[in-house]
Amino acid sequence: MSAALSFTHIPNPTPTPAAEREALLAQGGFGTVFSDHMVTIEWSQDKGWHKAEVRKREPFLLDPAAAVLHYAQEIFEGMKAYRTPEGKITLFRPDQNARRFNLSAERMAMPTLPEETFLEAVELLVQTDKDWIPGGNGSLYLRPFMFASEAFLGVRPAHHYTFCVIASPVGDYFKGGAKPVSVWVSTEYTRASQGGTGAAKCGGNYAASLVAQAEAYDNGCDQVVFLDAAEHRWIEELGGMNVFFVLEDGSLLTTPLAGTILPGITRASLLELARARGLKVEERRYSFEEWQADARSGKIKEAFACGTAAVVAAIGEVRYAGGSFKIADGQTGPLTESLREELTGIQRGRVADTRGWARPVAI
Ligand SMILES: *Cc1c(COP(=O)(O)O)cnc(C)c1O
Repeated sequence: MSAALSFTHIPNPTPTPAAEREALLAQGGFGTVFSDHMVTIEWSQDKGWHKAEVRKREPFLLDPAAAVLHYAQEIFEGMKAYRTPEGKITLFRPDQNARRFNLSAERMAMPTLPEETFLEAVELLVQTDKDWIPGGNGSLYLRPFMFASEAFLGVRPAHHYTFCVIASPVGDYFKGGAKPVSVWVSTEYTRASQGGTGAAKCGGNYAASLVAQAEAYDNGCDQVVFLDAAEHRWIEELGGMNVFFVLEDGSLLTTPLAGTILPGITRASLLELARARGLKVEERRYSFEEWQADARSGKIKEAFACGTAAVVAAIGEVRYAGGSFKIADGQTGPLTESLREELTGIQRGRVADTRGWARPVAI
């Protein structure tokens, strides 16, 4: 049924005038400005995926009993479209987002979307709203998501879902140079546990992380680092980014994918780039105690967080209930910097893409 899915295009009759759009694009920031269109596809038990449309971006008409509002059956993805120096448009490894979206869907007892439909939906929106891709160091952030739209208060997987893609232009994430972030290690709150939803990209994980994020802000930090739920000992990840450590011998260390952390595409890409350089890379558990001791002894040289939004962000300072310590003197370390340069170079078409990671979008 979904193999024959074809998209109906209903252009926005009142798109944003060019001058206004340019002013919005110049604003920068993250997640506050949106393009003129969206893609929606409906799913019902009897019809499967149907009613695929590219249409004007507008509010949903949602029944107050819509299951998502009560039981949080919702998943999402995050990816970026870039304009290369030659004026082409590319997406970075969108097939990986399509695949992960379906893994999240399975965990949340939601229907899966054929990967080619996911990719087509994203590409159609990029093509339709290509004028919303900022130049320079900006990009068009794409947010595919799906939620339970059935009006029913009983507790079971819903019988009706809505898939949607919206687009938001983002300026240079690090205006005025990438500043290292400070992180708060939460020893009270945890994000995910074995058997839970930590490896799924669902809104509920974020809802559960916000109180710890607020605690981080209260302690003057930008981000929160979560420890494992069983022992409150092992470093897992940040609220929305994976974490890496650089050891004194030049090797890299990162948390293994063991069901409680999100399998980041940035993480996987950096692992591949590091291995291709011949660096020693370990995916193993690393405790907060070790991190403190290794920072003190000088064994840890750098630390960074990674994800689609910021790509690579150096961690300059670590704070926790019992104290604080600095990493790399609060600066961005050389390996962090060079991995960021290589990955952003591939994403933006400045560095040769030998792995076919940058997928061109026809325009
Ligand atoms: C999305 C996300 C990441 C990063 O994944 P990328 O594919 O690299 O963007 C890391 N952790 C969490 C919790 C996330 O939701």
